[in-house]
Amino acid sequence: MPVTHTQVGCPYCGASCDDLEVVVSDDGKEILEVRNACAIGNEIFHHATKPGRVTRPRLRQEDGTHKEISYDEAVDYAAKVMIEAKKPLIYGFGSTNCEAMAAIGRVAEKGGAVLDNCASICHGPSFLAIFDNGYPSCTLGEVKNRADVVLFWGCNPMHAHPRHASRYSVFPRGFFTRRGHKNRFVICIDPRETDTAKISNLHLMVNQGHDYDLFNAFRTALRGHEIPEEVAGVPREQILEGVDAMKKARFISIFYGMGLCHTDGRNHNVDIAISLTRDLNAITKATIMAMRGHYNIAGPGQVWSWSYGFPYCIDLSKGSVAHMNPGDTSSIDLAMRNDCDAFFNIGTDAGAHFPIEAVKKLRKHPWITIDPNICMASEIADLHIPVAVVGVEEGGVVYRMDNVPIQFKKVIEPPEGVISDEELFNRIYMRMCELTETEPVWIHHPALDVAKAVTEE
Ligand code: SF4
Repeated sequence: MPVTHTQVGCPYCGASCDDLEVVVSDDGKEILEVRNACAIGNEIFHHATKPGRVTRPRLRQEDGTHKEISYDEAVDYAAKVMIEAKKPLIYGFGSTNCEAMAAIGRVAEKGGAVLDNCASICHGPSFLAIFDNGYPSCTLGEVKNRADVVLFWGCNPMHAHPRHASRYSVFPRGFFTRRGHKNRFVICIDPRETDTAKISNLHLMVNQGHDYDLFNAFRTALRGHEIPEEVAGVPREQILEGVDAMKKARFISIFYGMGLCHTDGRNHNVDIAISLTRDLNAITKATIMAMRGHYNIAGPGQVWSWSYGFPYCIDLSKGSVAHMNPGDTSSIDLAMRNDCDAFFNIGTDAGAHFPIEAVKKLRKHPWITIDPNICMASEIADLHIPVAVVGVEEGGVVYRMDNVPIQFKKVIEPPEGVISDEELFNRIYMRMCELTETEPVWIHHPALDVAKAVTEE
């Protein structure tokens, strides 16, 4: 009899939907059906069981081909690279669980590495603004139940987070929003007429790179002052219509994406967005939230903040002191300065997302990719170590875009012999201890209990 798993988490976008139902064949090897997921989420589950999956580590040979090696050999290779490098860079983590993020921390400490995550090239400017100006946010549950004005600024959830609107922000009926979409006024601020703009009540087509001006106009109008006839390409009437809707709202939710934090102004745009939220709170209740991209890219921000005090760009090369200085300790900057001499790409694709010059510089040094799938980063790596797919073949804790932790489930077994990220990092750490003839540091933490079990085996 096929088994139906309920309340399954989706390991794709930052909406981290946890209401999926996955029907698995009675031998537990095949995924027969995925319910409730969007098309992208559906594909993630079915992709895991498609033929052609890499199931053993592959080491690049001198002639450029890859040769399969055992996990023990791969662990030994990775541990040696980590020990021999003066300043290894460990980057990625959009697509793995928090247990693995905790486990890699010990590898990074032991190797004196720089620990960075995808925020370095996406919502890093948001972190800088949040450090300066706070983060008056809420949960997506509150958005569903309370928000009667929803503002999407520089984001397009209809494509990037396909169930965001239907599950949390626009269409669902909540406790105080019983008529769903009819209870909400949706504003979209975007230079293009996106599909999110099409479901909005008001679309302000801001000139590219002029978001800061428009925020200023909103704040000025909100305080009752005159604004020019047009600001950032948006007519005054439209700005006043948006401000008027906000003034009448009981609960405003502002969502913003890379269109805000990666256009001219960057962290200053997010800073003024937070200031607008604060201004609105003098009149009504208002909240703001970053549209995080991957299903657990909020995770490293949590795990590493409680471990090191910083969410990203964490330099552990100075011994027991962690320090963070984006622009100096951020991945691209390190790569461009040739300031790291080994690269670990984990649960992301730096080969596809980094500027080509940075990739070329990183490729001069040992490059290890840890990822379940073949991607550009796996194909240019010296060593590719495949791992189990979190959320499909491995459970664990993930943080949704609103920083709510969710326990993801395992629904099928990984291919025979394929191990999890967490186990891999624990094994690399234990091998580094063996090679350096040092005692493993022991801290009571569920992730480290696994390390002990691995050692005892
Ligand atoms: Fe998965 Fe995102 Fe689609 Fe939800 S919206 S099912 S998390 S891809």
